[in-house]
This record gives sequence, structure tokens and C-alpha cells, in this order.
Amino acid sequence: MKIQACANIPAIEGGYPVRQELLDYSRPHLGEGEMKAALEVLKGKWLTMGPAVHAFEERFKRWLGTNHALAVSSGTAALSCATFAAGFGPGDEVITTPMTFVATANAIVYRGAKPVFADIDPRTLCLDPAAIESRLTSKTRGIIVVHFGGQPAEMDAILEIASARNLTVIEDACHAPGAAYRGRAVGTLGDMACFSFHPVKPIATGEGGLIATANEEFARKMALFRNHGIMREPAPANSWEYDVVTAGENYRLSDLHCAIGVVQLERLPESLERRAQIAALYDEAFRELDSVELPCRPAHTKHGWHLYQILLRLERLRVTRKQIFDALRAENLGVNVHYIPVHRHSWYRKEFGSPGGLPHAEGVYERLITLPLFFGITDQDAADVIHAVKKVLQYYRA
Ligand SMILES: *Cc1c(COP(=O)(O)O)cnc(C)c1O
Repeated sequence: MKIQACANIPAIEGGYPVRQELLDYSRPHLGEGEMKAALEVLKGKWLTMGPAVHAFEERFKRWLGTNHALAVSSGTAALSCATFAAGFGPGDEVITTPMTFVATANAIVYRGAKPVFADIDPRTLCLDPAAIESRLTSKTRGIIVVHFGGQPAEMDAILEIASARNLTVIEDACHAPGAAYRGRAVGTLGDMACFSFHPVKPIATGEGGLIATANEEFARKMALFRNHGIMREPAPANSWEYDVVTAGENYRLSDLHCAIGVVQLERLPESLERRAQIAALYDEAFRELDSVELPCRPAHTKHGWHLYQILLRLERLRVTRKQIFDALRAENLGVNVHYIPVHRHSWYRKEFGSPGGLPHAEGVYERLITLPLFFGITDQDAADVIHAVKKVLQYYRA
């Protein structure tokens, strides 16, 4: 009886933690295949701009079903290439979501353009098309859509707004390789799409990113920008010659990263299936908790399951989100919060002030918690997550 009673007490209140070791919210999953591929690169003569880069780009392009894929040094570099190719500049406004990693908005700022934050749909946590419409001005040049956590944004409505005004649409698909919207792959819906291969993302190469586009002109501009703006076409008279046609960056990705990427991409379907399976287990378990709300996943979308998030119903709890968060950490769950809305960061406040009109982003941020979800999660890990969340939320039920 005594042990039974203790088992219901959160570790932060003096009970036993559900887990002895921390379970991260995300972890890369690298195996023999990745090691072998990386070793082959080290034995060869190309460390960068070699055959592994070409192979990765070719495979990614075929897998996604698009015309051009350019590997770059990070998801941030991918976004920077895309905002460059789109031609955003001073005086332009680009609409995006505040509920994202700051790199999405920074890529607008790099071009001297102004990020304009539109509110999210509180059900999907993605940009709300009606909110985009309310932010349109004569200066609006583009939209950067984020498929948040892997949930595809409502693309038909967004593309309709964009095409009526000739706006460039960039998909920030860093959370969503393998996701789909009305049967079409995420990353093929806008004018350009950006992916990240950071260790927490579904494809992990250490650092890395990629831009996909069907547009030849955008692809050409981004290829230049990735490599110092160096142009070698038409073939120069002398083999040492080249011309610099824009002040580009060095955003190249190495062969080592790309060789790992080839293997990670091959394993993506299996990874996605596993993550979807765990997400379904979580959904089923948490549906019984009346102190939790789950984001809605519309039937016409296929989730990419980068993040699994719960929304607390704070009115049904007697403590704050911070206390629930700390209690879950004390159970050794590596919970996280994605994200502090971009407009709340000090630099954004200083430069752009408080935009206002973002009640859903603000409200959702106060209630969000990200739970562990990744390819290598075991059945026992998932059972621990469910156990710890139930224990903590039931204890603090109002
Ligand atoms: C991770 C991420 C990025 C940036 O990718 P890096 O590879 O870390 O530079 C951009 N946007 C979103 C939504 C991300 O999650």
C-alpha cells in the first residue's frame, strides 16, 4: 500500500522518478551504414564538392519528386539562399509565423526586408490563412510557411493568397521531410522549400540543409549564392578564370555530411513509421486526460512527426506550465518548449516593436510542452513518457 501511494507522487514532490536516466526529446539515429559511408569518404580524395554531394542531391531530388535539390551547410543557410533567390530586399515585407525557430525570421532580416508575423491557427499551430490575409500590404513580397512540428500548413488557401498577389512562397520544411498535404509531398508545394539536417531533425548529418525547387531560375541563383557567387559559365577562355556575379556565401555542405545524408534518407520511411506509431500511442493515452488538449491533425494531411506536443488546459491544473515542465524534467523526461514566439525575443522587440494581434501564438506558447519522440525511442521509453505525464498531470489536477 505504501509503495503504491509513493508511486503516484511526482519526483519533484519527493516521490520516485519514472526514469533513472534522462530521455531526450530528440536524438539522432546513426548506425553502421552511416559509419561505413563516412569512412568511404575519408578514404577517398573528395572532402567537399565531390561525388557524395552529387549523390545526396540526386537521391533527395528523386525521393521528393522535384527538379532541383541543393545541399547547403544548414537549414539556416537554406533559408538564406531562398530569401536571396526570391529577391527580397529593403522596403519589402515577408509574412511568416511567430511560432517557429528564429532562423525562419532571421532569413528575412538578412535581406534587409521586414518580417511580418501573422497569427497561427490554434488547432494546427501553423499559419492561419485568414491571419496572413489580414497582414497583407502593398509591400508584401512573400510568405514563409512553417510545417510546424511536422504538421503541414493549410497550403491550398495560402497558395491561393500568394498567386492572387504574385507572392513568393517558401516552405520551411525543416520539421517535415516525408509529410504530405492532400497527397502531395511537403517541399514541393511552394516556390522553394528548405530542409535542415541538424542532429535533432528527422534526417541528421551533424550540420546540413537543403533547398528544393522546381524553378530553374531560383535554382541557378541559389547555386551561385551557395558558392561565393562564382560563375564558370560560359566556360572561360583560361581554366583559372572565373567570374563573381554576386557577393555570395560559402554555404557548401561537405561530402562527409552528404554521405551520411544518403543513408539517413534511405532510412527515413522506417523512421517516420516508427515515430507515427509512437505518436499514435501517445494520442491514445493522453486522450483520457482532461487537463490536456492535443493539436488537431486534419485528415487531408500526413504528419512528419518531428515534434510531439501537448497543450495544457491550465484552468484544470492547480500549477503553472513551468511547474508541470519542471515536474516532468524531475521524472527524467527531456521535455522542451517549441518555441518562444520569435517576436518576443529582445532583438525583434528592439527592431520591430510588439506586433500585437497574435493572440493564438501567445496563448499556445503559454500551454505548450514537447515530449520525447525520435526514431530510436523504445517501447519502454514511450511507456515511461505516458506514465510520467499521467502521473504528473493527475497529481496536479485542480
Ligand atoms: C532547425 C530549424 C531551422 C534551422 O536549421 P539549422 O540546420 O539548425 O540551421 C530553421 N527552421 C526551423 C523551423 C527549424 O526547426
